[in-house]
Amino acid sequence: MTRKLYYEDAYLKEARARVLEIRENALLLDQTIFYPTGGGQPHDRGMISGVEVLDVYKDDAGKVWHVVSEPERFNVGDEVELRIDWDYRYKLMRIHSAMHLLDHVLNEVLPGEWQLYGSGMSVEKGRYDIVYPENVNQYKNQIIELFNRYVDEGGEMKIWWEGETRYTQIRDFEPIPCGGTHVKDIREIGHLRKLKRSSLGKGKQRIEIWLEE
Ligand SMILES: [Zn+2]
Repeated sequence: MTRKLYYEDAYLKEARARVLEIRENALLLDQTIFYPTGGGQPHDRGMISGVEVLDVYKDDAGKVWHVVSEPERFNVGDEVELRIDWDYRYKLMRIHSAMHLLDHVLNEVLPGEWQLYGSGMSVEKGRYDIVYPENVNQYKNQIIELFNRYVDEGGEMKIWWEGETRYTQIRDFEPIPCGGTHVKDIREIGHLRKLKRSSLGKGKQRIEIWLEE
Protein backbone atom coordinates (compact mmCIF):
# COMPACT_ATOMS: atom_id res chain seq x y z
CA MET A 1 0.00 0.00 0.00
CA THR A 2 1.18 3.51 -0.73
CA ARG A 3 2.35 5.54 2.23
CA LYS A 4 0.30 8.73 2.20
CA LEU A 5 2.85 11.41 2.99
CA TYR A 6 0.25 14.16 2.46
CA TYR A 7 -1.39 12.94 5.67
CA GLU A 8 1.87 12.86 7.63
CA ASP A 9 2.83 16.38 6.55
CA ALA A 10 0.49 18.43 4.35
CA TYR A 11 3.35 20.90 3.76
CA LEU A 12 5.65 18.49 1.90
CA LYS A 13 6.41 19.88 -1.53
CA GLU A 14 8.95 17.29 -2.70
CA ALA A 15 9.74 13.66 -1.96
CA ARG A 16 11.36 10.59 -3.46
CA ALA A 17 9.44 7.39 -4.19
CA ARG A 18 9.68 4.05 -5.97
CA VAL A 19 7.42 2.85 -8.79
CA LEU A 20 5.54 -0.28 -7.63
CA GLU A 21 3.24 -0.85 -10.57
CA ILE A 22 2.34 0.71 -13.92
CA ARG A 23 -1.17 0.34 -15.31
CA GLU A 24 -1.61 1.86 -18.76
CA ASN A 25 -0.78 5.54 -18.18
CA ALA A 26 -0.79 5.51 -14.38
CA LEU A 27 1.85 4.88 -11.72
CA LEU A 28 1.47 3.29 -8.30
CA LEU A 29 4.20 4.42 -5.88
CA ASP A 30 5.47 3.19 -2.51
CA GLN A 31 4.75 6.67 -1.10
CA THR A 32 3.26 9.90 -2.37
CA ILE A 33 2.75 13.59 -1.64
CA PHE A 34 0.07 13.83 -4.38
CA TYR A 35 -3.42 14.21 -2.92
CA PRO A 36 -5.97 12.23 -4.97
CA THR A 37 -9.37 13.73 -5.80
CA GLY A 38 -11.65 13.15 -2.84
CA GLY A 39 -13.77 14.75 -0.15
CA GLY A 40 -14.56 17.62 -2.50
CA GLN A 41 -10.89 18.55 -2.85
CA PRO A 42 -9.38 18.41 -6.36
CA HIS A 43 -6.25 16.32 -6.95
CA ASP A 44 -2.79 17.83 -6.87
CA ARG A 45 -0.88 18.94 -9.91
CA GLY A 46 2.85 18.59 -10.35
CA MET A 47 5.65 16.52 -11.83
CA ILE A 48 7.12 13.07 -11.33
CA SER A 49 10.77 13.10 -12.45
CA GLY A 50 9.99 15.96 -14.82
CA VAL A 51 6.89 14.29 -16.32
CA GLU A 52 3.56 16.04 -15.88
CA VAL A 53 0.94 14.52 -13.59
CA LEU A 54 -2.45 14.83 -15.27
CA ASP A 55 -4.69 13.17 -12.69
CA VAL A 56 -4.43 11.53 -9.28
CA TYR A 57 -7.20 9.23 -8.15
CA LYS A 58 -7.97 6.52 -5.65
CA ASP A 59 -9.33 3.26 -7.09
CA ASP A 60 -11.95 1.04 -5.44
CA ALA A 61 -9.21 -0.79 -3.55
CA GLY A 62 -7.93 2.52 -2.14
CA LYS A 63 -4.79 2.56 -4.30
CA VAL A 64 -3.56 6.02 -5.33
CA TRP A 65 -2.81 6.18 -9.08
CA HIS A 66 -0.83 8.97 -10.74
CA VAL A 67 -1.79 9.48 -14.38
CA VAL A 68 1.24 10.88 -16.22
CA SER A 69 1.69 12.43 -19.66
CA GLU A 70 4.56 10.12 -20.68
CA PRO A 71 4.13 6.72 -18.95
CA GLU A 72 6.70 5.13 -21.28
CA ARG A 73 9.43 7.04 -19.41
CA PHE A 74 8.91 4.85 -16.31
CA ASN A 75 9.66 1.28 -15.28
CA VAL A 76 8.66 -0.71 -12.24
CA GLY A 77 11.35 -0.30 -9.58
CA ASP A 78 12.43 3.17 -10.72
CA GLU A 79 13.35 5.75 -8.09
CA VAL A 80 11.43 8.90 -8.93
CA GLU A 81 11.26 12.49 -7.71
CA LEU A 82 7.90 13.93 -6.79
CA ARG A 83 7.15 17.62 -6.85
CA ILE A 84 3.70 19.10 -6.37
CA ASP A 85 2.53 22.48 -7.63
CA TRP A 86 2.72 24.02 -4.17
CA ASP A 87 1.07 27.31 -5.04
CA TYR A 88 -1.99 25.43 -6.32
CA ARG A 89 -2.12 22.98 -3.37
CA TYR A 90 -1.67 25.70 -0.74
CA LYS A 91 -4.57 27.68 -2.20
CA LEU A 92 -6.68 24.52 -2.01
CA MET A 93 -5.60 23.95 1.60
CA ARG A 94 -6.64 27.49 2.44
CA ILE A 95 -10.03 27.34 0.69
CA HIS A 96 -10.70 23.86 2.09
CA SER A 97 -9.95 25.05 5.63
CA ALA A 98 -12.06 28.15 4.98
CA MET A 99 -15.05 25.92 4.18
CA HIS A 100 -14.73 24.26 7.60
CA LEU A 101 -14.47 27.61 9.33
CA LEU A 102 -17.50 28.88 7.39
CA ASP A 103 -19.47 25.89 8.69
CA HIS A 104 -18.87 27.02 12.28
CA VAL A 105 -19.52 30.66 11.46
CA LEU A 106 -22.89 29.83 9.85
CA ASN A 107 -23.80 27.82 12.97
CA GLU A 108 -23.13 30.86 15.11
CA VAL A 109 -24.61 33.57 12.92
CA LEU A 110 -27.72 31.99 11.36
CA PRO A 111 -30.65 31.72 13.78
CA GLY A 112 -32.24 28.27 13.72
CA GLU A 113 -31.26 25.26 11.67
CA TRP A 114 -29.60 25.16 8.28
CA GLN A 115 -28.73 22.06 6.26
CA LEU A 116 -25.91 21.48 3.89
CA TYR A 117 -26.83 19.52 0.76
CA GLY A 118 -23.90 20.23 -1.51
CA SER A 119 -20.45 21.76 -1.57
CA GLY A 120 -17.48 22.25 -3.81
CA MET A 121 -14.13 23.97 -4.00
CA SER A 122 -11.55 25.15 -6.47
CA VAL A 123 -8.49 27.36 -6.10
CA GLU A 124 -10.71 30.34 -6.93
CA LYS A 125 -13.61 29.83 -4.53
CA GLY A 126 -15.58 27.63 -2.19
CA ARG A 127 -19.28 26.80 -2.47
CA TYR A 128 -21.92 25.64 -0.01
CA ASP A 129 -25.48 24.81 -1.10
CA ILE A 130 -27.74 25.00 1.91
CA VAL A 131 -31.40 24.79 2.87
CA TYR A 132 -32.43 27.67 5.10
CA PRO A 133 -35.83 29.41 5.36
CA GLU A 134 -34.54 33.01 5.44
CA ASN A 135 -32.48 34.93 2.92
CA VAL A 136 -28.86 34.55 4.08
CA ASN A 137 -27.98 37.94 2.53
CA GLN A 138 -29.27 39.79 5.60
CA TYR A 139 -26.54 38.03 7.65
CA LYS A 140 -23.78 38.52 5.11
CA ASN A 141 -21.85 41.23 6.98
CA GLN A 142 -22.07 39.33 10.27
CA ILE A 143 -20.75 36.18 8.58
CA ILE A 144 -17.81 38.03 7.04
CA GLU A 145 -16.99 39.89 10.26
CA LEU A 146 -17.04 36.79 12.46
CA PHE A 147 -15.08 34.75 9.91
CA ASN A 148 -12.37 37.41 9.70
CA ARG A 149 -12.27 37.83 13.46
CA TYR A 150 -11.60 34.11 13.90
CA VAL A 151 -8.87 34.28 11.25
CA ASP A 152 -7.26 37.22 13.06
CA GLU A 153 -7.40 35.39 16.40
CA GLY A 154 -5.98 32.23 14.82
CA GLY A 155 -6.09 28.70 16.13
CA GLU A 156 -4.60 25.36 15.36
CA MET A 157 -6.43 22.94 13.05
CA LYS A 158 -5.98 19.70 14.95
CA ILE A 159 -5.96 16.38 13.09
CA TRP A 160 -6.39 12.87 14.47
CA TRP A 161 -7.57 9.42 13.48
CA GLU A 162 -10.22 7.28 15.11
CA GLY A 163 -9.92 3.92 13.40
CA GLU A 164 -10.34 4.57 9.67
CA THR A 165 -11.87 8.00 10.18
CA ARG A 166 -9.79 11.14 10.16
CA TYR A 167 -11.01 14.15 12.11
CA THR A 168 -10.16 17.81 12.03
CA GLN A 169 -11.03 20.41 14.65
CA ILE A 170 -10.76 24.18 14.69
CA ARG A 171 -10.40 25.76 18.15
CA ASP A 172 -12.91 24.01 20.44
CA PHE A 173 -15.59 23.71 17.75
CA GLU A 174 -17.29 20.45 16.80
CA PRO A 175 -14.78 18.03 15.18
CA ILE A 176 -15.45 17.31 11.49
CA PRO A 177 -14.64 13.99 9.78
CA CYS A 178 -12.52 14.87 6.72
CA GLY A 179 -9.81 13.28 4.60
CA GLY A 180 -8.57 16.48 2.95
CA THR A 181 -5.50 18.64 3.48
CA HIS A 182 -5.75 21.61 5.83
CA VAL A 183 -3.62 24.53 7.00
CA LYS A 184 -1.92 24.25 10.40
CA ASP A 185 -3.41 27.45 11.76
CA ILE A 186 -6.56 29.24 10.60
CA ARG A 187 -4.56 32.49 10.35
CA GLU A 188 -3.18 31.07 7.10
CA ILE A 189 -6.67 31.07 5.55
CA GLY A 190 -6.65 34.86 5.26
CA HIS A 191 -9.69 37.11 5.21
CA LEU A 192 -12.89 36.57 3.30
CA ARG A 193 -12.75 38.95 0.37
CA LYS A 194 -16.24 38.34 -0.92
CA LEU A 195 -19.35 36.33 -0.11
CA LYS A 196 -22.11 35.89 -2.64
CA ARG A 197 -25.53 34.43 -1.96
CA SER A 198 -27.80 33.26 -4.76
CA SER A 199 -31.20 31.59 -4.67
CA LEU A 200 -31.68 28.08 -5.98
CA GLY A 201 -35.44 28.19 -5.20
CA LYS A 202 -37.57 26.72 -2.43
CA GLY A 203 -35.35 27.94 0.41
CA LYS A 204 -32.26 26.48 -1.27
CA GLN A 205 -29.40 28.92 -1.42
CA ARG A 206 -25.88 28.92 -2.74
CA ILE A 207 -23.13 30.62 -0.75
CA GLU A 208 -19.84 31.22 -2.53
CA ILE A 209 -16.74 32.61 -0.90
CA TRP A 210 -13.53 34.13 -2.19
CA LEU A 211 -10.41 34.65 -0.09
CA GLU A 212 -7.81 37.38 -0.11
CA GLU A 213 -4.78 36.55 -2.20
ZN1 LIG B 1 -11.34 19.10 5.52
